[in-house]
Amino acid sequence: MPEITLKQNSAKKRQTTKLRTVLLIGLLAVFTVSGWIFLKNDTVMQSAVDQDEGSILPNIDQASPGAQIRPTVLKQFSGEEFVSFYNKFAYPNVREFESAPAITGTSAADERIRSIALERGYVGRSVAVPPLKDVSKDFQLQERAANDWVELVDAAKKDGQQLTLTGAFRTIEDQRDLFMESLTTTGATVDSIIAGRSDAAIISVLRRVSIPGYTRHHSGYAVDIGCQNDPAVVFGNSSCFTWLSKNNYEHAKTHGWIPAYPDGAPKQGPDPEPWEYCWVGKDALLEPVNI
Ligand SMILES: [Zn+2]
Repeated sequence: MPEITLKQNSAKKRQTTKLRTVLLIGLLAVFTVSGWIFLKNDTVMQSAVDQDEGSILPNIDQASPGAQIRPTVLKQFSGEEFVSFYNKFAYPNVREFESAPAITGTSAADERIRSIALERGYVGRSVAVPPLKDVSKDFQLQERAANDWVELVDAAKKDGQQLTLTGAFRTIEDQRDLFMESLTTTGATVDSIIAGRSDAAIISVLRRVSIPGYTRHHSGYAVDIGCQNDPAVVFGNSSCFTWLSKNNYEHAKTHGWIPAYPDGAPKQGPDPEPWEYCWVGKDALLEPVNI
């Protein structure tokens, strides 16, 4: 009798274990499917929000509620494509300036400086419409750029890279001060500029500093990045740059950022600045997978 009871018990146990396994698999399937649906719905909602704000290019996949959701991958860009993507991007909360901002305040000198700048590839940039968000004591960005900057810094930290913010939003006046400070140290004067004797000095400044109205920093969507891992190394040779740029800037793009001066970009005014990145948002950088 005890033996039979034992057998019966172990048969029961096996049955219970089987039942548990089936239940567990069932539950797992339910969780997986509902998790997938939740994530997909979230993506649709996010896209809808972005479209409301008008920040997505018309050629972005127009997901609408009820439409079939397709998996997405990060878009791949050549250097030229990165730059034209930025230039065509419809940024919210910015305005165009009506007439080119003053530089020295003397129009003949300003025209000479501006024509040299244009020849170097500088283009007029849009200017942020306040309010902006404080990222730190010294730096402000457009709100969505500020949020995605924090996300990028956190992601880098997890991979052992310490990104720092060394430049963000700048007003027209800020940029004028920066440019004039540099130009003044060359010894150039309004008279020497008008007479054409300071062209070489102007070019030397324009290699590093934009004239007011012609920097991406006006928009509140551009950042200059430093690398605390390699503070003594030029940014383009730092471990942070390697982290950001590998695999067609995968890490930067994953968090909504693209390089302002990638290899292969056309001339844009200053010498290439590998530390400068522009926000375009994550959704704009995704495209549907072709199955
Ligand atoms: Zn910059």
